[in-house]
Amino acid sequence: MTQELLEYIYRNYFHLRNEEEMILCNKHSNYMQWDFLVKKAGIEVMKDKLEDYELTADELDFLANLDRLKLNQEIAIRIWNTHKDELYINKCPTCGGIARTKEGRQCRKGHRW
Ligand SMILES: [Zn+2]
Repeated sequence: MTQELLEYIYRNYFHLRNEEEMILCNKHSNYMQWDFLVKKAGIEVMKDKLEDYELTADELDFLANLDRLKLNQEIAIRIWNTHKDELYINKCPTCGGIARTKEGRQCRKGHRW
């Protein structure tokens, strides 16, 4: 599976994440917001606000070390394996390269159609 296809699925079909994947992505986004404020307000202050971000103290290490790029790639691969037959892959008629979006009319090499 090419990086091009992974990015295309991520960009166009991320709504096909399953419930578990969505929860993990949301938790990670909440963690990133929480962590951003830790740098301003300090960790002791922000530990009192974990509940506001739907986080628990036990999850902090895990989320801090979560490789989001890798997670996104794993989700894209899972979406591909589960929904392969339903996905529309918008390919350039000239070179076969994948457009960035489903509606795109230009490939990464600059061909237009
Ligand atoms: Zn092309």
